[in-house]
Amino acid sequence: MLYSNFFRPLFADIKAFVLDTLFPISCLCCEQEGSFICLDCKVRLKPLEHQRCIMCQKPSPFGLTHLSCQTPYGADALISFYDYHDANLAKILIKGKYSFLPEAYQILGGMLANKLTSDSQFLNLKSYILNPILVPTPLNKWRLRWRGFNQSKILCEAIAKETNLPVIDALIRKKHTKTQKDLKREARLKNVRDAFEVPENHKSSILNHICLLVDDVTTTGATLQEAAKILKRAGAAKVICLTVARD
Ligand SMILES: [Zn+2]
Ligand SMILES: [Zn+2]
Repeated sequence: MLYSNFFRPLFADIKAFVLDTLFPISCLCCEQEGSFICLDCKVRLKPLEHQRCIMCQKPSPFGLTHLSCQTPYGADALISFYDYHDANLAKILIKGKYSFLPEAYQILGGMLANKLTSDSQFLNLKSYILNPILVPTPLNKWRLRWRGFNQSKILCEAIAKETNLPVIDALIRKKHTKTQKDLKREARLKNVRDAFEVPENHKSSILNHICLLVDDVTTTGATLQEAAKILKRAGAAKVICLTVARD
């Protein structure tokens, strides 16, 4: 016992050393070694100047859904942090996803948590009294199996680490949907209609809570709108969508 406890840290160090030597960690933007997003590139990422209403896409303070755009089961706000047209950010998101690097999303999640808790231009999570919970946007099963991780869940866990908010898998995909990438807004809404449901064992965990629905990128907001509708129908008090980037 003593023997293995003595050697375990040594083996962990050797393993880390071998992995670092064979697969050195480098910045996904500039290839500088040491981190998947280096400090220089972190500060150079382009924050979004304006938030937009998820329904009409027009500018809106704090990303709140305009009064005239609100519907009974609509999302209450959409907060996106970075511009997807920033080439470096797109590199991080795409390489993170397709080179199977959940670590990139861990770093992004930490950055989001930082902004949410300390930057006054975003809604301050600490000011919520209705116990916010973090809800990842689910992937369908085969995509999750292929990628090995759900980037939205990794983002949620990284935000949770900084904020102590619970992460609840309050949504599951109940039907296979085509990838939204090549579809126009109306077709996207149709494609994701009835794609989600709240599993029975999580119904009570979202009732009267504020759900912070997290995803990596939003384009038309169709997926988030559909997911928000399902959460609100199941009793969520509010749904605030959070995304790393807006296209
Ligand atoms: Zn860099
Ligand atoms: Zn609007």
